[in-house]
Amino acid sequence: IDTAMTLNAMHPDIIVIRHQDSGACNLLSQKVNCAVLNAGDGRREHPTQALLDALTIITRKNKIEGLKIAICGDILHSRVARSNILMLSLLGANINLVAPKTLLPRNIDNFKVNIYNDMRDGIKDVDVIMMLRLQNERMLSSYIPSAREYFRYYGLDEEKLSIAKNDAIVMHPGPMNRGVEIDTSVADNVQSVIKDQVEMGVAARMAILEILSMR
Ligand code: ASP
Repeated sequence: IDTAMTLNAMHPDIIVIRHQDSGACNLLSQKVNCAVLNAGDGRREHPTQALLDALTIITRKNKIEGLKIAICGDILHSRVARSNILMLSLLGANINLVAPKTLLPRNIDNFKVNIYNDMRDGIKDVDVIMMLRLQNERMLSSYIPSAREYFRYYGLDEEKLSIAKNDAIVMHPGPMNRGVEIDTSVADNVQSVIKDQVEMGVAARMAILEILSMR
């Protein structure tokens, strides 16, 4: 209550909040008098990342509807995955989630997505491969045998990438664990749009702040 009182006393137009607890943003928005922008709350949501990812895909592919998009890796701890599942399915993409069973949420059946435990099946003929960071800071116990083993089965290297469409684009929200979920040669190759994502992030967030400040 004191935090909200202090924040309100500053009369901000917008509060941008990134918080380790899922739901922190919703709670704050009920207590303050201004717009609240969620910059990532725990493992729940990361809406601006989903918007900049959608913008990146549209820039490269001219559309989202009908695209096959594989989201691969640590889905369980990823707010990026959750926001992208919501956004990209809303925009008409077909979504494959690719992860070992230990890194999939229990309620995964509630999402309208295809689930794959084998990466080769999950990325076959897709237009977009979105890799996720192994979120070690959110892991309370061991979810994978070793980083080396994980890379072997779930790391995106040139050989696995060749299973996707020839013109598939590779995405990653950063920061990347090179050699764990993504091979350096793939992270930096011509199919990678990871730098574009960073650039689109500036544009998307500028637009969001402008829209919110006009309210
Ligand atoms: N930067 C993204 C986030 O804040 C992704 C990550 O940290 O892996 O969730």
